[in-house]
Amino acid sequence: MDLGIKGKRALVCASSKGLGLGCARALAAEGVDLIMNARGADALEAAAGAIRTEFGVDVVTVACDVSTPEGQTTLIEAAQGVDILVNNAGGPPPGMWTDWDREDFIKALDANMLAPIALMKALVPGMMERGWGRVVNITSQSVKAPIAVLGLSNSARAGLTGYVAGTSRQVAPYGVNINNLLPGSHDTDRIAALDSGNAAKDGKSVEEARAARQSSIPAGRDGDPRDFGATCAFMCSQYASFMVGQNILLDGGNINATL
Ligand code: NAP
Repeated sequence: MDLGIKGKRALVCASSKGLGLGCARALAAEGVDLIMNARGADALEAAAGAIRTEFGVDVVTVACDVSTPEGQTTLIEAAQGVDILVNNAGGPPPGMWTDWDREDFIKALDANMLAPIALMKALVPGMMERGWGRVVNITSQSVKAPIAVLGLSNSARAGLTGYVAGTSRQVAPYGVNINNLLPGSHDTDRIAALDSGNAAKDGKSVEEARAARQSSIPAGRDGDPRDFGATCAFMCSQYASFMVGQNILLDGGNINATL
């Protein structure tokens, strides 16, 4: 299926590894030129080089922290005129609800709520002028059902979700579609780190911690970042023009809900 976006340009934030990389690869496979971002330059250059070689698209790299105002300014300058924006950043650390103070919440809000809002505010007006745009925000299944140890994530992503619900309907008349993509457990460094933390806390091996977590997923396994990327690419496609302000859950059935 040709998604009809060959030759478009996309900024994919936090994309040297994991889910962001899955999205970058899937867009590149559709012939989309990329601006890729991460803090660490080495992994970013390696990922960008592999995509150029495999898909033959243009890839510009911007090594910076998307959660800071300086990083956002750098990204916005590099991404002038983009057609597609995929918002992503690292997730907040786990803990207990009693652990976090104001500074912890500010960091989580900066990375997982205010950074995507800043990039949308800067880049969506150009999409509206040109009459076409797609924004996908990578959030979390924690938007649908809270994850007890990820209270910072639960909070910051709920704020972004509320912002998108209102904003997406204001920009839809101009051909710009903003939606959120909600990962359940996917096989990335992030989930490996959470499994290691749980193993240490519960006195289990990492394999036991992973098996215990996966036992509650109806699909019986973690998701593949490549499949996640393919869904993102569809949400950036010509065929997503009637999808407005939606929260698309990819969780192997983990959230036990009718809607
Ligand atoms: P990951 O495997 O740890 O990859 C994170 C990527 O983001 C790396 O490329 C990392 O590179 C980059 N990054 C992190 N912080 C950044 C920052 N401040 N500025 C720019 N780049 C940054 O993580 P993931 O599993 O793909 O998760 C992506 C997002 O989805 C996270 O917010 C996570 O909480 C959320 N999520 C993941 C899962 C899951 O199961 N994997 C489930 C629910 C939600 P550098 O470190 O070099 O910057």
